Amino acid sequence: MEETINQILKLLDYKYGKEAICYLNYTKDYELMVATILAAQCTDERVNKVTEKLFIKYNKIEDFAECDIAELEQDVFQTGFYRNKAQNIKRSCGQLITDYSKNMPMDIETLTKLAGVGRKTANVILTHIFKQPSIVVDTHVKRVSYRLGLTKEKDPTKIEFDLMKVLPKENWARYNSQIMALGRTMCKGQKPKCGECFLEEHCGKILV
Ligand code: SF4
Repeated sequence: MEETINQILKLLDYKYGKEAICYLNYTKDYELMVATILAAQCTDERVNKVTEKLFIKYNKIEDFAECDIAELEQDVFQTGFYRNKAQNIKRSCGQLITDYSKNMPMDIETLTKLAGVGRKTANVILTHIFKQPSIVVDTHVKRVSYRLGLTKEKDPTKIEFDLMKVLPKENWARYNSQIMALGRTMCKGQKPKCGECFLEEHCGKILV
């Protein structure tokens, strides 16, 4: 198993490089939190389209914390689940101001106390803002890791812990963007292109 995983990781590095890429656009720490909250059940492309205008209109953290909630709901409407997302953005930005002096917490326990911030959002922040080794489990990581045979779990938190056990720490941060690239092009939800996939020889192809 260890040898298979090493081969998979080597091929992922060769194909997609060793950089942990963030596909969400942001310039400020709290903007990455906002963008990741909006990315739940929504594509990164759509989120980037929405945040392009959003981050101009709300150009400081107080603008989110003190906003008119109905207006923010309209501004994030296109990302879906807009009522919950708007509430969480307003509340989490408020928490960052009042409880953390506008500084993003650097550990997962504190991050997940912020409204709307689960382990996925927290791990995105740890990976891209603080460069801490963490594994972001999104829909691609969930599906592809299962097919590869790296986990038998369906729950994102259990998958994250399974992956932490089998992947070397130095690969954690980039595993997400590598698997996202693979999931978007080869290992698609409905019809994985196994015949064209560079991982086929090493893949468990579980339930494919
Ligand atoms: S071989 Fe098939 S199931 Fe395995 S990673 Fe490639 S596309 Fe996905």
